[in-house]
Amino acid sequence: MLRVLILGGIGDAVELAAKVANIPGIEAIASLAGRTRKPANLVGNVRIGGFGGVPGLVGYLREMQIDILIDATHPFANQISENAAAATQEIGIPRLMVIRPPWEKLGDDCWLEVENNLAAAAVLANQAKRVFLTIGRQEIATFANSQGIWFLMRMIDPPNTDVIIPPGLILCDRGPFTLENEQEILLKYNIDTIVSKNSGGSATYPKIIAARKLGIKVVMVNRPPVPPGEQVPDVDSACKWLFDKLDIL
Ligand code: NAP
Repeated sequence: MLRVLILGGIGDAVELAAKVANIPGIEAIASLAGRTRKPANLVGNVRIGGFGGVPGLVGYLREMQIDILIDATHPFANQISENAAAATQEIGIPRLMVIRPPWEKLGDDCWLEVENNLAAAAVLANQAKRVFLTIGRQEIATFANSQGIWFLMRMIDPPNTDVIIPPGLILCDRGPFTLENEQEILLKYNIDTIVSKNSGGSATYPKIIAARKLGIKVVMVNRPPVPPGEQVPDVDSACKWLFDKLDIL
């Protein structure tokens, strides 16, 4: 029996856990950071909460006798990915990253690509008045000093009470979102600019299509670097990789 730890936090991990549950010879545990109040429904064994950095993760992998780690976290969750790389290297077990491809800018898109949220806040200064901020809740304070900008801030759960919130309105909602929904929001709130992480995938892509159709600017935050290691672009490829490992190990 191969014991697999799936690091989750996005839909790909949910799908992967469901598929892995049907592979004979594999026993999987899915792990979530515990950020959202109502996490997505994961099939099988689930653990919730941080491990305690690299030493904590090493301890967990040893204690649970994990043979393989699959990192199916969000492309912007780079701390846990770095920790997973270091921990698996330390104990010498295989690690696979499931990294969905980033969105590509198309002909009619009006994107301004930036390296991080701080840079996104800086570029808004002279060119936006009403912004749809779709970066989640963890870094909204980065935008709190923007002068003369009103923000519509969409996130799954409301921000913590100690967070400085930019002026505007908080909208708690969870994807997937439809094109119709996104167009309606952009028009209703008279949005002139969207700030988005380049998350990839289909669940939150309709806002990008809506912006294209309505001629609205997108400040696109590029992804942080990923640690070196094997990677696949989707869940099916991850399952195939696992099947191959079953033969080898
Ligand atoms: P992060 O900065 O990479 O991780 C911060 C810490 O959270 C990690 O050091 C780890 O704590 C804990 N952690 C993260 N993912 C974990 C997991 N799957 N299982 C157990 N512990 C985990 O991550 P983040 O950006 O805060 O995101 C947190 C979670 O939300 C991730 O799982 C990610 O997939 C999901 N998510 C993130 C985004 C985003 O834009 N960042 C968007 C959607 C979903 P310890 O050091 O104590 O182990």
